[in-house]
Amino acid sequence: MKIGFIGLGIMGSRMAANLLKAGHSLKIYNRTKAKAEELIHEGADWCESPKAAGEGVDVMFTMLEKPDVVESLATGSDGFLAGLKKGSLWIDSSTVNPSFSERMSRLASESGIRFMDAPVSGSKVPAQEGELLFLCGGTKEDFEEAKPLFMEMGKDAVHIGEAGKGSAMKIMINQLLGQSILAFSESLNLGMAMGIDKKTGMDILLKTPVTAPILDVFRSRIENNEYEANFPLKHLQKDLHLFTETAFELGQPSPLTSAAKEVYGMAKHKNMADLDFTAVFKYLHEKE
Ligand code: NAP
Repeated sequence: MKIGFIGLGIMGSRMAANLLKAGHSLKIYNRTKAKAEELIHEGADWCESPKAAGEGVDVMFTMLEKPDVVESLATGSDGFLAGLKKGSLWIDSSTVNPSFSERMSRLASESGIRFMDAPVSGSKVPAQEGELLFLCGGTKEDFEEAKPLFMEMGKDAVHIGEAGKGSAMKIMINQLLGQSILAFSESLNLGMAMGIDKKTGMDILLKTPVTAPILDVFRSRIENNEYEANFPLKHLQKDLHLFTETAFELGQPSPLTSAAKEVYGMAKHKNMADLDFTAVFKYLHEKE
């Protein structure tokens, strides 16, 4: 199948590599060409613009930072929507807000292009190993058509509902992720201030059912103060923002998420934007 792939950051570069390995012909575009070199070496076809990446492909994947970036590469005379043929399928795997996905679905359909939101659960290593979980919004028919592609990059794909519902599920998951690691960090930090050794504190907190099981995966980052980004802190803050923005749109309360978002915002302000999101512990713990 002819596939376009735009956005070759931590996640996109690894997802695109798996599509290439599966034998698809891949047209790629990224703002920073240097990140595409390995894929070009493996046989992907580099394009000088998003529009060029869209020309002649059956399916276009986007894996970009945030909604305004997705929109800026999709639209305009150089945008990929102008390059895609009628009837092709655009799958946006970026983490964005549901109302944005709904709007992109309408925009695509005005050009005769089908749309799915298919954000992923799983980080750098699952992206590399082809073990992501795709959370999908769109028609059932489009989902069934795209499922073999999802399974080349992931371990499962679920159809949640119409366009926007994949994004809805994704921001629910990341709201819990952001709060879990923050609550854990706050507890561990006070434990250390009370004289509990860091390792003992982590050992015991992680054995209790009140701690989210996922935190065990992140343990070594906090224990060893190693915060090279698997999932950049600035993206988690963005996801919490998308959650609170959606809560505002729907007239729902989101008090804890609003508070958590501000903690990540302050960490970002202390030059931690590009560290792993688990650096929120470092932010709480380290005195200046
Ligand atoms: P990343 O490494 O920061 O990559 C972001 C991508 O967006 C890059 O291709 C970047 O281009 C592009 N981009 C950013 N600003 C741009 C702009 N103004 N114009 C054009 N392109 C721009 O992020 P990532 O970790 O791969 O995440 C991508 C998406 O997946 C995000 O929505 C994130 O929330 C979501 N996600 C991430 C993870 C994770 O663990 N990392 C897990 C699940 C979901 P350049 O290469 O030129 O900077």
